[in-house]
This record gives sequence, C-alpha cells and structure tokens, in this order.
Amino acid sequence: MNYLTIQNNVSLTDQNTFGLPWQSRFFCVVDTEKQVALALAFAKQKKTPALVLGGGSNLLPTKKYQGLVIKNEIKGKGIVKETNNFVWVRVGAGEDWHQFVLWSIRNNYFGLENMSLIPGTVGGAVVQNIGAYDVDIQRYITKVEAYKLETGKKKVFERADCQFDYRNSIFKKSDEWMVVGVTMKLPKTFRPVLTYKPLARLKTKKGLTAKQVSQEVCKIRRSKLPDWKKLGTAGSFFGNPRAAQSVVDRLKKSYPDMPVFYNYGSNKATIPAGWLIQHSRLSEKDRQEFLYPKHSLIVVNNHKGSKKQPRNHALRTKNFVMRVQKQVQKDFGITLKPEVRMF
Ligand SMILES: Cc1cc2nc3c(=O)[nH]c(=O)nc-3n(C[C@H](O)[C@H](O)[C@H](O)COP(=O)(O)OP(=O)(O)OC[C@H]3O[C@@H](n4cnc5c(N)ncnc54)[C@H](O)[C@@H]3O)c2cc1C
Repeated sequence: MNYLTIQNNVSLTDQNTFGLPWQSRFFCVVDTEKQVALALAFAKQKKTPALVLGGGSNLLPTKKYQGLVIKNEIKGKGIVKETNNFVWVRVGAGEDWHQFVLWSIRNNYFGLENMSLIPGTVGGAVVQNIGAYDVDIQRYITKVEAYKLETGKKKVFERADCQFDYRNSIFKKSDEWMVVGVTMKLPKTFRPVLTYKPLARLKTKKGLTAKQVSQEVCKIRRSKLPDWKKLGTAGSFFGNPRAAQSVVDRLKKSYPDMPVFYNYGSNKATIPAGWLIQHSRLSEKDRQEFLYPKHSLIVVNNHKGSKKQPRNHALRTKNFVMRVQKQVQKDFGITLKPEVRMF
C-alpha cells in the first residue's frame, strides 16, 4: 500500500507479552517496504525517534515511548534458490516465527525444529539471534535486509556482517535498523540435534521426523514455560553469564552443587542464571510477586489483563529486575545481563 495511517497516543498494552501498560506518542503498522519509507520519512519530518515492534515478546516497557512505534507486519515467503541438498528461503520479517518453523517442516526444509514455539516475529528472532535446545537461528541465515532508521536507506547484510553472538546481533547492539527480510539456507536432509537432555530420549526412535521433534519441543516448552497469553512474561529474563574458571573454582568451594557447562570451543564456563537467582538471598516477597514458581529465570506480571494493575507496575517490575542483579552480584560476584529490552 502506498499510504500509511499514523495514530496518536496509542495504548500498546496488548502489544507486549508482559501485558504491562504502555503507550506511544505515534504508532503505525507497516506491511510493505513502501510503508517503511513513509514511516521513516514521518519520523524524520517530526524529528522524533522510531522504534520497531515485532511480537512484543522480548520487551519490558517502563514508560510512554515519545516517538513513533512501527509495528512490522511485512509478510511473505518464497524460495530464491535450490540445489539437491539445500533451499534458500526469503521470508518477510513480520511473519510469525513459530508459523514459519511449521511451514518449513511441512515443506521438508529442516533445521529449525528445535526452535519451535518461540514467540514473536522472524525479524525479532534475527535481532535477538534466538536459540533453544542447542540450536540458534544464526547458523541458517545467509542475508538480512534492513532499513537504516535515520536515513531510510536499505542495506543487505551478509551473515558475516550481522555480528551474531549469544542472543545478540548488530541489530540489537545498535538499534539503528529495521529488519524487513531474511534469507535462510535450510538443508533438505533431516539431521536432528538431540544433545539437549530432555530430547535425548528421541535418539532411539526409529524413523524420527522433524515434525516429531517439533512436537516434543512444544510439549517440553508447554510444561516448563508459562503461557504468555494468560500470564505476562517475556520468557527468560537474563542471559546465562559466562565466567572465568577461577571464578567457578571460587564459587564451587561454597556451592559444590552449582551447575556449570562449557560451550563447544569456549574456555569460559557458563553458569545458569536461573540457578543463581534461585540460590540468591532475594526476598520471598519479591520471588512470590515477580518470579514464575517453576523457573526463577522467568519474570512474570501476575496482573496481565487486569484493569487494575498496581500503580506504576512496569516501573516496579524494572526495579525488581535491578534488585535481582544487585543481589546476585552481592551473593556471587556475578553480573546478570538482561536479554529482554527495557524501554
Ligand atoms: C514464553 C516465552 C518464551 C521465550 N523463549 C525463548 C527462547 O527459547 N529463546 C529465545 O531466544 N527467546 C525466547 N523468548 C524471547 C522472544 O520470544 C524472542 O526474543 C523473540 O525473537 C522476540 O521477537 P519479537 O518479534 O516479539 O520482538 P519484540 O519483542 O517486538 O522486539 C524485541 C527487540 O527487537 C527489536 N525488533 C523487533 N523486530 C525488529 C525488526 N524487524 N527490525 C529491527 N528491530 C526489531 C525491537 O525494537 C526490540 O528492541 C521467549 C519469550 C517468551 C514470552
């Protein structure tokens, strides 16, 4: 479409999976690149900042956004190249991630099944370099198309330019880009990754299919994670911190049962953030109000959907997050970094 509707002072409470009260000064929905250009021109003309919104599943909004929120609904997927072994799929960044995973499985394009049921859009997935059960999205990405928010100019990033790292990318680091399209190279041969312990039981299953792996992943996730449609959350709030061996050795003296794992190719140890929070001296009152009882890494809003959320609840949640960081630092000398974007 060649026109764009800009709304003023819009409530975005139902646009963040935390369900926290949130507003923006300006708001628009784009489903074409032409509309992206119009939105960015509007922001420039008004001298106002722009923020891209996908599914709102990795956000903790704490105050009204005094600029233009651009909701990305650019859809579409198609094969751009194919060989005997691989297919290159170009997908619009506004597609729903989980639906895209299911589509790839239905078409016998493999690799994404371990990342089933992660909420949000394809664009948000690239920004965050999402991952689950020992697979992350970066390994399949060949190209990312994005618009520079300030200039409205389009750039095509090769994979090497994207600076992918654990739950990070150039798009997350700089906040300067709007991702509109992604090309992924997916194998046509199914090679399951079953290294994550709860998936290991599938190793003995004869004729295992990607659909079965996806279904198992969904089953595990539903049993472990809250249903964000009912309970406010953005999933794991903090990344798992990496620590030098000397730090691990020091902590192991006081906490011999502390779990530690080593990622392939790294000499740094990773300590589960959830374990650190669970074993910190955070108050019981805080735990009960803000943490998911089944998993200490998941911050929740128990008031999602209620007309009477506590006054300044978004800010209260942010303050809680800061208390967690302070307490873990004090108890273990380890810094927890939020994975969730706070605005
Ligand atoms: C219950 C639950 C479980 C989760 N499990 C996982 C998991 O297993 N693994 C995992 O990695 N994550 C997980 N997440 C986090 C989240 O789903 C992902 O990070 C997701 O990819 C965010 O996508 P989104 O479209 O919702 O992004 P949003 O929340 O809308 O945005 C997040 C950030 O990305 C930016 N952004 C979004 N789209 C674009 C774009 N097109 N261009 C530029 N910037 C953009 C936004 O400005 C913002 O800074 C979980 C979340 C929930 C609620």
